[in-house]
Amino acid sequence: MGTITAELLRERMRGEVITAGDPGYDEARKVYNAMIDRRPAVVVRPANAGDVAAAVNFARENQFELAVRGGGHSAPGYGTVDDGLVIDLSRMRDVRVDPGNAGAMVEGGATWGDVNTATHAFGMATTGGIISTTGVGGLTLGGGIGYLARGLGLSIDNVVSAEVVTADGRLVVATEDENGDLFWAIRGGGGNFGVVTSFEFRLHPVEHVYGGPMLFELESGRDVFRFYREFIATAPEQFGGFPAFQIAPPLPFIPEDRYREPFVAFVSCWAGPIDEGERVLKPMRDVAPVFAEHVGPMPYPAINSAFDALMPAGLQHYWKGNFVTELTDEAIEAHLEHGPKCRWSIPRCICMRSTAPSGAWRLTRQRSRIAERTSLRSLPGRGQTPRRTKPTSRGSVTTTTRPLHCRRTAGTSTSCRKTTRTGSRPTTGPTMSGSPRSRGDTTPTTSSM
Ligand SMILES: Cc1cc2nc3c(=O)[nH]c(=O)nc-3n(C[C@H](O)[C@H](O)[C@H](O)COP(=O)(O)OP(=O)(O)OC[C@H]3O[C@@H](n4cnc5c(N)ncnc54)[C@H](O)[C@@H]3O)c2cc1C
Repeated sequence: MGTITAELLRERMRGEVITAGDPGYDEARKVYNAMIDRRPAVVVRPANAGDVAAAVNFARENQFELAVRGGGHSAPGYGTVDDGLVIDLSRMRDVRVDPGNAGAMVEGGATWGDVNTATHAFGMATTGGIISTTGVGGLTLGGGIGYLARGLGLSIDNVVSAEVVTADGRLVVATEDENGDLFWAIRGGGGNFGVVTSFEFRLHPVEHVYGGPMLFELESGRDVFRFYREFIATAPEQFGGFPAFQIAPPLPFIPEDRYREPFVAFVSCWAGPIDEGERVLKPMRDVAPVFAEHVGPMPYPAINSAFDALMPAGLQHYWKGNFVTELTDEAIEAHLEHGPKCRWSIPRCICMRSTAPSGAWRLTRQRSRIAERTSLRSLPGRGQTPRRTKPTSRGSVTTTTRPLHCRRTAGTSTSCRKTTRTGSRPTTGPTMSGSPRSRGDTTPTTSSM
């Protein structure tokens, strides 16, 4: 980007404008996944919604492709773009809790850690993910599965309203009653409908939970996965958890001579009465001998950040995911075969039952664009090269790997084109089931945790 053009942008914004050659450019262009190495023309760090609108307008007027970055965790790197303009929301992380109304206003660049610590002070929480450094923006716009989802619904089910800067630079509010189509689209449609400068979330009384990881020897894997299949079908909805494969990290509760060996892990989070936690988890202990564990009562932010150190920024990620409706014996065998092979990676082969016959899940289905969520998400860690999403025959919204484009169309006018295919709203029938395309930022084969 030329010096003069960058100066024009700086004049319009309170936040930072960083171009190639500026100190900090290499840091500013980094995203979480070190496989992604893109060189934007400019990275802006807005200070407020006005700055966001200025950046969107600037991108449109100057025909820059635009990428929006929340927490930067997108595995395929949708939070950056070669030669384009990146709106990095990392300066907009404010969280304001309204305990009286059980709500929180969360800026679009906040992480779940920001939210959890702010809401925990009032004994409340809402559904986030399982790692606290993940951005609220991308996770929520893509749905949002986490420990609390079985009881409280996905993250999108807890969004009450959102402020969005649209491609034409307007700042609009989206709720059920105001800009209802936009509100519907952002709850599962990913980052393709505008820049969310703030979310309003519904909060719930969740302060302490009972849980943590248990490690089993690999030979117990089959029993653990089969147990999980039965257990999760009727588990109380305050239970969230999943089996996974885990390379033993150097932590005090693991014998030193077993560090870096693969194990089967069972991660649990019980958000019901603490004194019932051990009773709820007891059947897991009976499945097979527990080799090591770190299970007990803890504040909700602690479980949400328990694995952060295992998933630091700067590792090279190559993910593949799938959705199945049932954890069949064949699926279990596939996990058992491939999970332990991922020897040099962090917990990679994860299986999450993402539904339960609970009232919250029935609500979930009514509220958002993901019409049916009866899938089990299975996430082996290695896979083939991500492909682009194809349009869905069901007419739901799909995302592509490309960010919002701003380009000159035929003639002289300039317009922003969203690289999202929008169809009619799903009515009945599964959209996630058998199809991973509903994720906000994912390619069909690259899913996220
Ligand atoms: C370590 C790790 C753990 C994870 N755990 C979970 C989990 O437990 N549950 C789960 O559901 N997912 C999980 N994920 C997946 C994660 O939700 C997605 O990768 C998500 O898109 C990341 O959001 P982000 O804001 O951090 O990423 P970014 O790369 O910043 O953004 C991802 C996408 O969202 C868009 N976007 C982000 N913020 C905004 C905004 N404010 N307005 C408009 N668009 C925006 C971006 O443009 C991009 O398309 C995990 C990912 C990682 C890397």
